Amino acid sequence: MSPQYFSLQADNTFGLKIQARQRIIADTPNTILSAWQNSRRRHQPFLLLGAGSNVLFLNDFAGIVVLNRIKGIKINEQDKAWKLHVGAGENWHMLVEWTLKKGINGLENLALIPGMTGSAPVQNIGAYGMEFKDVCEYVDILNLNTGITQRLDREECAFGYRDSIFKYEPYYAIIAVGINLSKQWQPLLTYGDLARLNPVTVTAFEVFNTICYMRKSKLPETCMTGNVGSFFKNPLVSYEKAEMLKMTYPGIPSYPQVNGKVKLAAGWLIDQCQLKGLRIGGAEVYQKQALVLINVGHATSQDIIELAKTVRFHVGKKFDVWLEPEVRFIGAHGEYNTPIKAIL
Ligand SMILES: Cc1cc2nc3c(=O)[nH]c(=O)nc-3n(C[C@H](O)[C@H](O)[C@H](O)COP(=O)(O)OP(=O)(O)OC[C@H]3O[C@@H](n4cnc5c(N)ncnc54)[C@H](O)[C@@H]3O)c2cc1C
Repeated sequence: MSPQYFSLQADNTFGLKIQARQRIIADTPNTILSAWQNSRRRHQPFLLLGAGSNVLFLNDFAGIVVLNRIKGIKINEQDKAWKLHVGAGENWHMLVEWTLKKGINGLENLALIPGMTGSAPVQNIGAYGMEFKDVCEYVDILNLNTGITQRLDREECAFGYRDSIFKYEPYYAIIAVGINLSKQWQPLLTYGDLARLNPVTVTAFEVFNTICYMRKSKLPETCMTGNVGSFFKNPLVSYEKAEMLKMTYPGIPSYPQVNGKVKLAAGWLIDQCQLKGLRIGGAEVYQKQALVLINVGHATSQDIIELAKTVRFHVGKKFDVWLEPEVRFIGAHGEYNTPIKAIL
């Protein structure tokens, strides 16, 4: 008798028809740990997921997929700040909205980012001038190898641009995060339509609503159109390289970083190659935002990979800037750790 497989189509926002040998919903750290121990005993691969909004499955998964749904939010009001302790399986956007409704400001710039709270530290989610690290106080992990839980403070998380220690520690299962929100709220109004708001009178809800409006106008809703948001990271180049590019392309958006590097806008680079609307099989470069690759309804993993390869090749050829994926590639036996050139 052939083994039973479980659909992951609803568990990856690309909406790919992927299956796994086993699919478990974990609402306690112990469930995660026993699923891990079972996978070791059976010599099967193991994957911990939130909402699957930052993964591209390349094949069916030959092992156990555990969906983190550990719930619970605790608030501790202090003189100068609100301290939140949030279960890793709480939906991130709902947390943002819930805090605002309680009069707790500070998460509004990260509104409408899909996924779970426990996934936020993994790539240090960021948008509209803010990153998760700006509000992170600690991350609680369960070390799957030892079964011991441990609290990492912000420094130990080694946050960077779409980066953290959690990308390199496969035995760390995030079970909760600690968030620190100062009562001295300062609006962050540097990006897009936010710059039009009055910094003196603006409320956190207005910032939230403006961001939701901007995001809805340029990003497809995952329930309608499969996607993972930005497929590629914004590339960081040297100051010299950025200056050289500016000579040929005076309009190129560029953002100097504190480390001396310059961040370029991947979407702009792709757009300059006139790739919006390019379709391979069921995968397409989104018309309203070139950084987003979409599943028009019948895409396979291979269609998406071929499209990403084409985009990367054209941008590389035109600008000599080689885009790196933001999305995580998952093969039959786990995450691909091979150099990116082996895939794209
Ligand atoms: C429309 C859209 C817009 C987006 N916009 C943004 C944006 O503005 N900024 C941004 O930064 N991202 C954005 N993203 C990407 C994505 O939403 C974030 O990366 C999000 O944090 C992923 O959460 P998730 O629960 O879906 O993670 P998943 O995709 O389920 O997992 C992502 C990775 O984290 C690992 N992981 C998941 N849970 C845990 C855990 N508890 N412990 C340890 N590892 C874990 C997984 O194994 C996987 O490698 C967007 C995605 C979409 C679809």
